[in-house]
Amino acid sequence: MLRHRRNWAAAALIMAAAAITLVFTRSNDENSGSPWGFHRNIEALEVCRIEMLTIVADTVDICTSTIGEEFLGGAVRELGISGGQYLATCEVLMDSLGWTVQKTGDTLTAMYCRGELSELRAYPGNRRGFYRVLFSAGSPSVWEYVPQERWIRQRAISCDVSTTVWAALWDTALPSDLTESGILINSRDSSRAVGYISELQRALTDRLFVYDIDFYYDVKVGDKFWILIEENHYPMDGETGFRRILAAKYLFAHGGIAEAFPFFHRPDGAESAEIILDHYHRDGASLRTMFLKMPVPFGRISSGYSSARLHPVLGYTRAHRGIDYASPMGTEIYAVGDGTITVRGWLGGYGNMVRIRHANGYETGYGHMNGYAASQSVGSYVRQGEIIGYVGSTGLSTGPHVHFEMKKNGSYVNPATEIMPPADPLDGDELERFLSEMVVIEAQWSMLAGIDLPTPEVEIETETETESEVVAEEPGQ
Ligand SMILES: [Zn+2]
Repeated sequence: MLRHRRNWAAAALIMAAAAITLVFTRSNDENSGSPWGFHRNIEALEVCRIEMLTIVADTVDICTSTIGEEFLGGAVRELGISGGQYLATCEVLMDSLGWTVQKTGDTLTAMYCRGELSELRAYPGNRRGFYRVLFSAGSPSVWEYVPQERWIRQRAISCDVSTTVWAALWDTALPSDLTESGILINSRDSSRAVGYISELQRALTDRLFVYDIDFYYDVKVGDKFWILIEENHYPMDGETGFRRILAAKYLFAHGGIAEAFPFFHRPDGAESAEIILDHYHRDGASLRTMFLKMPVPFGRISSGYSSARLHPVLGYTRAHRGIDYASPMGTEIYAVGDGTITVRGWLGGYGNMVRIRHANGYETGYGHMNGYAASQSVGSYVRQGEIIGYVGSTGLSTGPHVHFEMKKNGSYVNPATEIMPPADPLDGDELERFLSEMVVIEAQWSMLAGIDLPTPEVEIETETETESEVVAEEPGQ
């Protein structure tokens, strides 16, 4: 299994990869607000590569080994690492870097410069990245986990509905490089394909057009739709994953069109400086309401909002100023609207609780959670539909459910009857910028799709309006 050899080609490859990493990492502008940021300086890369090749060609040895029956120790020894260096290397990988579970087939690569170990890389097969240990004077000096290079790209798809939206997506939306081989060979490939289409469909039907199209009743054979998709491409293993929808158009067979255009901006009142993506109609009206109807993807109301009820645990009557949704343990809980987390911790009878402060004096709370979403804390800005935790039964609770409550200006309101305000439309400078960007996006999107995308027929609408005005005058007389 040991492949210890002086291999100039391999060295060249690694150095070229390092050069690519430098160039692409610098220009990784995924959240900079530009949807068209694919300007790569290929010429500079080539110069860089040639310079590196001349430097390293004569001085580097590359060894590789694979995790087998002897686990990490065996694989490290196969690289020619022994004695104190062996112990230090294993310790850094296991303890400092936390790579405690190795799997058969994970690989290690060691680089020797003029006979001295300079760098070791460990590639766990189940992660998109690798561990890197740099050595100086024979001892580990720097170590880190390097996430795999990820490129963001755009792709346009055109779908015809002949049975269902799912089938239309399945037939046309899968990228040709979803898997490295380009075809679905094993069960992992198939589940990646199903996962891709599920995420895409959910983004389209449950998020983007949830208030514009009823996907149970409105969808008819003969409908057409177009989506501009953003994807994550992982060049190292040649795989592609769904990231998000940038823009979409849905043309009904009986006429009429629903549209969604992207707009990158900083939300009003958000403390975070992060640029976010929102979707708007052609006229700058938001595609979403301020709040989702419920904080879980599915579930039944097990207890509604009331000013007095018999409490199931405490045994006496007291108000229930919220709605309980019974859902299976571990179901995802969403933030119903954009906002800032103000509470995230144990809160008496609520158990594990998250509260979010929204715009216009609104506040929402989510109780009895089993656990919280990773990488959030008090002060984090969360988006509508973002996972904030998981359904549990902590605190005063008889079974898995989420207690959902809403306050306006400090007083409890019934989330079910509170009129859901639409999210703010664009106006002023933002509207101007949106309208000018929309023209560019639509033109580029048409180019990517290879067709002239349909637009609403404004002239016909004007005629109809004129007619209805004439008709409307009659009853008034
Ligand atoms: Zn409750």
